[in-house]
Amino acid sequence: MKEKMYLSTRGNQQPLNFYEAILQGIGSDGGLLVPDFDVDKKDLKELLNLNYIDLATEIISTFTPDDVKEDIRQLCKNAYGTGLFPEDVVPVKKAGDVYVTELFQGPTAAFKDMALSLLPYFMTFSLKQKGEEREVMILAATSGDTGKAALEGFKDVEGTSIKVFYPIDGVSPVQKQQMVTQTGNNVDVIGIRGNFDDAQTAVKKAFNSQELKDLCDQHHVFLSSANSINIGRLIPQIVYYFYSYLTLVNNKEIELGQEVNFTIPSGNFGNCLAGYIAKKMGLPIQRFIVASNKNNILTDFFNTGKYDANREFYKTNAPAMDILVSSNLERLVYFLCQDASLVKKYMDQLNETGVYEVDDDIFKKVQKYFTAGCLNEDDVLKVIGKCYDETGYLLDTHTAIGYGVYKQYQKDTNDQTKTILLSTASPYKFPKSVYQAITNEELDEYEAIDALNKKTNVNVPKPLQGIDKREILHTKVIDKESIVDFIGEQIKGL
Ligand SMILES: *Cc1c(COP(=O)(O)O)cnc(C)c1O
Repeated sequence: MKEKMYLSTRGNQQPLNFYEAILQGIGSDGGLLVPDFDVDKKDLKELLNLNYIDLATEIISTFTPDDVKEDIRQLCKNAYGTGLFPEDVVPVKKAGDVYVTELFQGPTAAFKDMALSLLPYFMTFSLKQKGEEREVMILAATSGDTGKAALEGFKDVEGTSIKVFYPIDGVSPVQKQQMVTQTGNNVDVIGIRGNFDDAQTAVKKAFNSQELKDLCDQHHVFLSSANSINIGRLIPQIVYYFYSYLTLVNNKEIELGQEVNFTIPSGNFGNCLAGYIAKKMGLPIQRFIVASNKNNILTDFFNTGKYDANREFYKTNAPAMDILVSSNLERLVYFLCQDASLVKKYMDQLNETGVYEVDDDIFKKVQKYFTAGCLNEDDVLKVIGKCYDETGYLLDTHTAIGYGVYKQYQKDTNDQTKTILLSTASPYKFPKSVYQAITNEELDEYEAIDALNKKTNVNVPKPLQGIDKREILHTKVIDKESIVDFIGEQIKGL
């Protein structure tokens, strides 16, 4: 059988196998890696009744060499089956007529755990399979949740070290506290004077820097990425689309084969893109509802076909979605046109002018599968309050955007298709906003945790209990312009 290979969305990358794709993290031409094979359509009937780990094994091994399925099962067990997640991994609940898949029950109380609990195992497995003796230095830019999840995933993992860059004024107090109190002897957390896009752009630049490549060679190390530009972040996320759907079938909420919608709070677009791949693998998804905050660049793209990054960047009460450069959209555009030279043209335009507009052909497909909308900050709070009053379900600020945009869509279209909301964070990660939304009272961030718990009886997730009392271990802050130099210094220090 032919080996499954990965190529770049921009066309200028030698084919890589799964291990090489995981370790390299990004195309050498600046594009993103995508499978160069047709993903097989899954027989849903065979997947019914599988537990999360066995389902993950079936889905993920679609993307790996055929002879390592049992190894993949072990990696999935390590990630999801050692007590860091609940037994069912992603509980599926209900808020009124909306199903809610809780992706935040892992070690850092955010959905990034779904992929970042597994990625380090992919990495160490790939290092072993390649007989790689160099160390890998993981770089991650974060708008709040990726950082902590990546730190937890990679801490003390042999053969790796990790550097996380976060915007000092662009993450919530709880998110920041989670990161600066991180333990582990191979971890580094660095504040950036700049926003998330600045951090992400600098990290991408580091991967393409010849100077850093040379330094890496001298010091026997190579760089890789823990952001959702890494295909190893996307693949684990396909699983919970299947799991959500099959849970509804098993619970007799839907018939096998019946179409559903998913509504998804979106930022870098990795979550939604994983769903699109699930659809390509045969999961009956009618529509994706792409939900944004006031940084509504994706809403505009899905409504007009034009991606225009020349706009103001807003800091909002849903900071993990404060993004103007939505990296994974590049993969979607590639999937829809299968034309790397066209994608390269768009991305060159984006780099040079901040804008690109897709052809009619692509836009027609976009409109067929995607609907988009956005909520401003006040509406986010109103939605949290209303949903809690009407259904008793407590949403965080990000998930509220997915819920509110879906409710608007339902009203506008009268679409009765059953809909699954992907819940991306625990309400206790943004306690001040959530408490204010349901009581109209403003409290200090940490006071709000206890008050919210008293008021709602929703449990505080273990990773967030007593968080304000932990010791601060990371205080470094640098300018956004010096990120690449900083990484250079770190490599020299190895
Ligand atoms: C990362 C994140 C998102 C956005 O997900 P993407 O895959 O980047 O679109 C939404 N909500 C929360 C809480 C997140 O941490």
